[in-house]
Amino acid sequence: MESEHPHADIHWREDGQPLSRAFDDVYFSRESGLEETRHVFLQHNQLAERWAGLAAGERFTIGETGFGTGLNFLAAWQLWREAAPDGAQLHFISVEKYPLRAADLCRALALWPALQSLSAQLLEAYPPLLAAGVHRLQFPQVTLTLVIGEASEGFAALRLGDDSRDRQVNAWFLDGFAPSKNPAMWTDALFRNIAALSAEGATFATFTCAGLVRRGLREAGFTLEKVPGFGRKREMLRGRLAALTAPPVSTTPWHLPEHLSGHHTPSPNPNTEPKPEPEPRNRVIAVIGAGIAGATTARALAERGYSVMVFERGAAPGNGGSGNRQGILYAKLSHRPGPNGDFNLHALLFALRYYPRLCPQLFHACGLLQLAQGHKEETLQAQLREWLAPLDADALAQPVDPAGASALAGIPLPFAGLYFPRSGWLEPANVCAALLHHDNIQLHCHTSIEQLRQNDAGWQLQGSASAHYRADAVVICCAESSPGFSQSSELPLIPIRGQVSIAEATESSSQLRMAVCGDGYVAPPWRGRQSFGATFKLRQTGTDLREVEQRENLEMLAQLMPQAADEFGSQTLSGRAALRAATPDYLPMSGPLPDWASLRGTYSFLRRNRKALIPERCQYPAGLFALCGLGSRGFTYAPLAAEVLASWISGEYMPVTETLARALHPARFAIRDLGKNRQR
Ligand code: SAM
Repeated sequence: MESEHPHADIHWREDGQPLSRAFDDVYFSRESGLEETRHVFLQHNQLAERWAGLAAGERFTIGETGFGTGLNFLAAWQLWREAAPDGAQLHFISVEKYPLRAADLCRALALWPALQSLSAQLLEAYPPLLAAGVHRLQFPQVTLTLVIGEASEGFAALRLGDDSRDRQVNAWFLDGFAPSKNPAMWTDALFRNIAALSAEGATFATFTCAGLVRRGLREAGFTLEKVPGFGRKREMLRGRLAALTAPPVSTTPWHLPEHLSGHHTPSPNPNTEPKPEPEPRNRVIAVIGAGIAGATTARALAERGYSVMVFERGAAPGNGGSGNRQGILYAKLSHRPGPNGDFNLHALLFALRYYPRLCPQLFHACGLLQLAQGHKEETLQAQLREWLAPLDADALAQPVDPAGASALAGIPLPFAGLYFPRSGWLEPANVCAALLHHDNIQLHCHTSIEQLRQNDAGWQLQGSASAHYRADAVVICCAESSPGFSQSSELPLIPIRGQVSIAEATESSSQLRMAVCGDGYVAPPWRGRQSFGATFKLRQTGTDLREVEQRENLEMLAQLMPQAADEFGSQTLSGRAALRAATPDYLPMSGPLPDWASLRGTYSFLRRNRKALIPERCQYPAGLFALCGLGSRGFTYAPLAAEVLASWISGEYMPVTETLARALHPARFAIRDLGKNRQR
């Protein structure tokens, strides 16, 4: 997808309605946008009737072209609250190439007082930077997956290449500017992608009856019916998918489990709703590890209704790398398009919505300064600023010179940098504990899981002291210990020792108002003490506190806050050393674990030709997953990585593009090793 997206260029008419300057078209009917939405999209997809028949635990998915002002989304959400049973989930996916700026969105939504409480929630969650790619916004009972990009490409980016996962949309809202004004959106490629994402029995409704739309939909396998339009519009179209046409093959399937339990393959009967997923509450999922990876995973699953058991060998959550006193919410953004930069940006945007939603009192959103320390970092930040500028990213990151940085921080700082007004720091162990506090989560501390065995009943987890537990699926979230099971022994994790120093805040250091990062970081004072660090010792596994590393941290601090470093240097510092685990490409691993021997056997041809097309899937033990390799950015990465993991388990659309889902996949290194003809 394109990396830069202009925003919607809106002309506000005298009657207060938004009009697109570029397309010279309205966002909704001049008579009554809300009534038009209800007539065209809600009634003609028969949503009230269909939703009344849903059961708790079922999911209904709507797909939309052109998110625009979000009016259709909000109207659907409002009806969902009235018509759907408690415990059912609405997933709304929408693509938008020219997103509205937040201020325009606010102005447009003010037109609908009846939607006010829902609009306020949308505005609160609306991303401060609408970069290309997938943005997942979560609301009570409703998930919005907003894909920024060209419509057809945006939908293609949601397809994993597995029919049973890709075909989820039950109803389509084919909105968009009129085909006469914007023919470039209503393409055959779009209709093909819509068909490829349609569940059995999917319906559609659209305000237009234009010939190219009728032809495109018919060719993609939809039946068509003309019905009276809204207001002065004589007619509109509705219909349903008549035949499941084979979708174009777009991916090679090394990443797709051969045995995904809990999914159905649609049968070609268009007149029935898809079979519901098995009720999540009847499935027990074991999560091993209660650091931030395990806590976010457990929470994402619990919110979907699964029954989650969490096992932690320590006395309490946040025992290892997630147990520091203060954790900074920091990402490594990059101007270069690619998986690392994309994941860092989207993970940060997701985390900035996640912690305020789930544990606001433990997230100190005091702001964060990322200083450009050194020439290389200065160049990177300059390129980043250039890349961010057209995205109107001020609300995410603002450039500051040394004087501006100093004024914001409350202490003199010698470097220019980027200011992230919404970021800050967290109380790590308390965050882990708070996330695990949920009716569907059972936490077992002092419980080390030694072995995993698969049998007909699912998974048996053997604990120390001969305790056994049964689960339908297992997620390994054990940081550097993740390769400790026979099934995960090939995960290429690299342990990294990190030591943080803690000092008593002094009069001058207490002036620091926000988190500051450069080569290291320093947090603002909290309860009279201040954390700074951290060391980074590749492949070292000791967790003893080392004097030499306290000195290293002081030297690092001296570059950022010389006076504080001087004053702290005369104290007896305390601190904490812990291990983190990184991957060779510094992206986390989140997804299913393959049967490694099957993978190597099935794909041995990659040793001779690493670019060879992969024609078939390899074996994956059903219900075995891992989330690990978060490195030193666990609190930033974990929420989105856990959402990816939960989407693998529940079969929902991913909260990231298919490209990113593969870039996070635990089997990627084994595939790369084959391509390099590396032996294991
Ligand atoms: N559904 C919207 C609402 O509830 O406010 C109104 C949609 S408006 C009529 C059409 C939308 O399609 C605009 O937001 C426009 O930016 C978007 N759009 C136009 N061309 C597009 C394309 N090629 N890909 C994706 N979105 C596009």
